[in-house]
Amino acid sequence: MAQQWFRFTNPDERTMLIEEPHAHELLSANAWHLRGRDRDLLIDCGLGVTALTPMLREHFDREPVLVLTHAHLDHMGSAHEFTEVWAHPLEQVGNPAAGSLHGPILAAELGLNEPLPPLLLTALPHAGYQPAAYRVQPATVTRALTDGDVVDLGDRTLIVLHLPGHSPGSIALFDPADGTLFSGDVIYDGGLLDSLPGSDPEEYARSLRRLRDLPVRVIHAGHGPSFDRDRLHRLIDNYLQA
Ligand SMILES: [Zn+2]
Repeated sequence: MAQQWFRFTNPDERTMLIEEPHAHELLSANAWHLRGRDRDLLIDCGLGVTALTPMLREHFDREPVLVLTHAHLDHMGSAHEFTEVWAHPLEQVGNPAAGSLHGPILAAELGLNEPLPPLLLTALPHAGYQPAAYRVQPATVTRALTDGDVVDLGDRTLIVLHLPGHSPGSIALFDPADGTLFSGDVIYDGGLLDSLPGSDPEEYARSLRRLRDLPVRVIHAGHGPSFDRDRLHRLIDNYLQA
């Protein structure tokens, strides 16, 4: 059983990284909490294996607006807990795929060929937890985000980039003032998934070419460690040349 289901760390003073270290690496996504003057933002929200909002209340004095980079289970699992949920209209937030914590079931749902372990958790969130009962809960989108929209935190603005390919409505958030990109699953330091239901490799390539031209300084991704622009270009070029 896990002592703490979520891990909170501070990459800088206005950013909190929230991880689920006991999820299999395929399902272990990054959620990013951004402190703003007028509102706080949470970018993605984990699997929903256990409630996230009570943990957030231990760290922060107000509920953030949840922005979903896309509607895969490891990014939107806790979305139903939030009042404000913003996402691209092409993502099935209100009718998500059921998902599963069992490797063979999830592999079949996602069309993955790689063998996955029977259970995609390395610990349980609490005694008596039933992984077989896991389903992704639908959530209600309260604001549709499309390309070029501005997400205003009062003292910080983020630009919405619609970058389809991994999923039809995948978005990233870009802070032009300091060059930070929150990329979701558009790009991360690992093998990119472009053959899931709803994926489109040609759109993916177009999205990555667009990203390559952006004046990005640091990338906080949907999975794995953060990285710089040189690494971004290396990852994009590796994909485009494959
Ligand atoms: Zn994804």
